[in-house]
Amino acid sequence: MQLQDKSRVAVIGGGPAGSLFSFFLFNLADAVGINISVDIFESKNFLNPGPRGCNYCGGIISESLVQMLATEGINIPEKVVQRGIDSYTLHTDKGSVRIETPLHEKRIAAIHRGSGPKGIKELNVQSFDNFLLNLAREKGASLIQERVVNVEISDGFPLLKTTENIYKNYDLLAVACGVNSHVLKMFQNDFGYKPPHTTRTYICELPFGKDIVNSYFGNSMHVFLLDIARLKFAAFIPKGDFVTLCLIGRDINRELINTFLSDSAVKDFLPDGWQIPDNICHCSPEISIEGASEPYADRIVFIGDSGVTRLYKDGIGAAYRTSKAAARTAIFDGVSAKAFKKGYKPTCDKLLWDNRIGKFIYFVTGIIQRAGIARSGVIKMVVREQEGEKNERPMSAVLWDTFTGSAPYKEVFLRSIKPSFIITLLTDVISGVFSSETTTKI
Ligand SMILES: Cc1cc2nc3c(=O)[nH]c(=O)nc-3n(C[C@H](O)[C@H](O)[C@H](O)COP(=O)(O)OP(=O)(O)OC[C@H]3O[C@@H](n4cnc5c(N)ncnc54)[C@H](O)[C@@H]3O)c2cc1C
Repeated sequence: MQLQDKSRVAVIGGGPAGSLFSFFLFNLADAVGINISVDIFESKNFLNPGPRGCNYCGGIISESLVQMLATEGINIPEKVVQRGIDSYTLHTDKGSVRIETPLHEKRIAAIHRGSGPKGIKELNVQSFDNFLLNLAREKGASLIQERVVNVEISDGFPLLKTTENIYKNYDLLAVACGVNSHVLKMFQNDFGYKPPHTTRTYICELPFGKDIVNSYFGNSMHVFLLDIARLKFAAFIPKGDFVTLCLIGRDINRELINTFLSDSAVKDFLPDGWQIPDNICHCSPEISIEGASEPYADRIVFIGDSGVTRLYKDGIGAAYRTSKAAARTAIFDGVSAKAFKKGYKPTCDKLLWDNRIGKFIYFVTGIIQRAGIARSGVIKMVVREQEGEKNERPMSAVLWDTFTGSAPYKEVFLRSIKPSFIITLLTDVISGVFSSETTTKI
């Protein structure tokens, strides 16, 4: 089971994983001198504003992904980047603090996955997903703008049925349909594949207008660490005219959204008297919280969210990693389950292991969220660090990497178990017991 001249590859999904997989596959096929064809099946048109062209996401492209893409010769065009993010502002009921990017560069990009939110007045937003899809098409991929409704194995080869046609005789099928697609259920229990476990999140696009976005949000992503049950992470991500509000936790519902918006830390931050408008562009997509098991079989590989992704952060970065590893395996090792086990599984296992450490980090973050003295201890420590020497900022660095997804959870963990880190934090927590003041540095 090897790809060779005239091999045919099908990819379900033209999101980041599907497009990057096709891009890498063409590059590597070229390098070994074989001519392949790739059909990308994508049901959405990313040129549409609103849900018809969007892949439901906060739209943060992590520092590490911006760099990894640049090393592949992929530079995100200015028109795709809605805003360069240069800092994170951490808000708690004990105060707020801005954590600046370690190098004062705007290396994190805030993007729209489609062509902007529903109701956008001027169509001046360029879609990130369309940019990646075009890279794959420029390499030679054919876009089939149809929804895949069934997949079968016919005489050992994948066969795809769409709402309009049947496509067959593929040598390899890459499943990159994310976790918000019914397609994954078709594979359940065949060859041991189990789709990722997911939970419901919430995203909405707030039409503040450029002036308010600039004056209230600036180039900072505003992260809230509040004592609200089931809420792990809430962030306002400024873009052009809009700010994306992203709530991640366990089964986010209307009640939880209202609790968050009426929290005093949130109200104090937003413009006076601001109310969430009716009819805003919003969605409640699923997010993967545990990777798929057995994300490969003979002639089939699951990449991006459909396979294994990073817990809560940098999902597009994980799509990059898995799609590159799968393409490398398909070209150099072959397309059998055995080849993917040898060449692709180690990349998935690395992400899975890191997610286990991530789960522990979120467990500790949850304790901090619930304990007022711990929240004020963290804020005190970060404020002092931000005022002091730039190379002595351990808590800022830990929070930066946790919120931006720029470093593996393992690195974050190793930095936070250093004795000096724990002693400083404990000192700040204890001093917080004797002080009820809030600490703010923005
Ligand atoms: C609330 C939330 C916030 C997030 N924020 C961020 C963030 O800020 N930064 C970040 O890096 N990651 C973020 N993520 C994660 C990120 O969205 C995913 O990890 C990433 O989109 C995965 O890419 P993918 O290509 O695997 O899947 P997707 O982006 O989901 O793409 C799948 C594609 O397959 C297509 N498709 C599905 N079914 C079919 C079918 N039957 N036929 C044809 N086409 C089909 C879909 O239309 C879609 O285009 C967030 C996720 C959530 C839920």
